[in-house]
Amino acid sequence: MRFSALLLATVFAASAATPLKVRAEVDWKKEDAEVLKHFQNLVRMDTADPPGREQATADYLVKTMKDAGIDVQTFVKKEGRPNVVARLKGSGKKRPILIMAHQDTVNIDAAKWKEHAAHSADRAGGWIWGRGTIDDKDNVTSGLMTMLLLKREKIPLDRDVIFLAEVGEEGSSQFGIGYMVEEHFKDIEAEYCFAEGGNSLRVDGKMKYAAIQTTEKVPRAITMTATGISGHGSVPLETNAIAHMAKAVAAISEWQAPIHLNETTLSYFQKMAEISSPEEAAIYRAVLKPGTKEADDALTWLRKNQPSQASMLHTSVSPNMFNAGYRSNVIPSEAKVTLDVRVAPQEDSELTLTALRKVVNDPSITLEWAREGRASANSRLDTEAFKTIETIYRKHYDAPVIPIMATGGTDMASLRPKGMQCYGSSVAVDTEDLPKGFGMHSDQERVLESELYRFVHAQYEVFSTMAKAK
Ligand SMILES: [Zn+2]
Repeated sequence: MRFSALLLATVFAASAATPLKVRAEVDWKKEDAEVLKHFQNLVRMDTADPPGREQATADYLVKTMKDAGIDVQTFVKKEGRPNVVARLKGSGKKRPILIMAHQDTVNIDAAKWKEHAAHSADRAGGWIWGRGTIDDKDNVTSGLMTMLLLKREKIPLDRDVIFLAEVGEEGSSQFGIGYMVEEHFKDIEAEYCFAEGGNSLRVDGKMKYAAIQTTEKVPRAITMTATGISGHGSVPLETNAIAHMAKAVAAISEWQAPIHLNETTLSYFQKMAEISSPEEAAIYRAVLKPGTKEADDALTWLRKNQPSQASMLHTSVSPNMFNAGYRSNVIPSEAKVTLDVRVAPQEDSELTLTALRKVVNDPSITLEWAREGRASANSRLDTEAFKTIETIYRKHYDAPVIPIMATGGTDMASLRPKGMQCYGSSVAVDTEDLPKGFGMHSDQERVLESELYRFVHAQYEVFSTMAKAK
């Protein structure tokens, strides 16, 4: 969508939906320069985790917001890793909203960033290049811009708007969201939270859908231990622990956990069926009849052809570590495998453990949990927040808006069990970019500059619509 059309649409929709006493919409032609400035500045800071060095971004966010007259604090569990919390006060008519974005990024292998250095924030070919451009400095920028604009435009608010730029999302959340929830929850408590996720997709340069993450799987792990008799490698034994373990791993890999749908995945596959080819649509409709052979066959097809869709349908199990043996002429007495288990929300994970023990069916092998589970929750699709996102995104993206379940994890997992309704979205990316290695966490992470602006505009409209006085 061109800029002027977008602006017109924004003005029209806001005035048609709710008569507001606040001044006209933001002049993005002017503000986009500031979006770019903050975004590039943030990408140019190395906030790799590990080791976790968010001090520079935290200082930047604090200074920028303080200079604008915004109330801002930091909460530090570990030296050099401040969580930033800013708040704009509302009338208290409604409960607060929380905008959340993580300051840290995954680390980099500098040698692999050949054309554009990882912290260059180069603008080239319509993209901006660098670590964090689509995870999660797009969200840090939209959160920051929202706070600045709401403050600058003096928009009266029905509720507090809280912005949390947390540390440690990429693997040390005990210093970030974990710490905030355990020790400073009242400083971030809100009715709704908004964070990363969603993965809105373009195909052939056109929007296919805008996705909103409304739930995620529960990460767990199982350790399998096979015990056998050790001995000289020249005398093979039937009790060989590696051989037993190999059979068990093969059986588990072929096993398929039953389909377990929830409100999000039900809606996701229904909506995907509406925008897919007839062949794919038939598969997506078939999986909505769990317990039938048709559904099982469709799941088998997805496991082979569209593994991420398959993972959304059930608890997944992936053997990701195999440790055994220490020299070629010794039969080891033990083999260990770690299974990455992603439990479908609200499914009893003990059922998976029991089922896997049955599948292995070998008295020389034990299976035990290696990682505790946590509570899971779906955010509802009938809330004011989801409906607001749906309306505003449909307008900005001119594409269907689809709720989605993340198979991986985000910091929202710590807030949903506390009763917050949480919704995740991120800047739109090209489907074609992912296999080419331009995706999230890749060595050539990049964002389309036009999509960055579109995302910030849409996010600002969502947040301001949710908060401004009506
Ligand atoms: Zn992220």
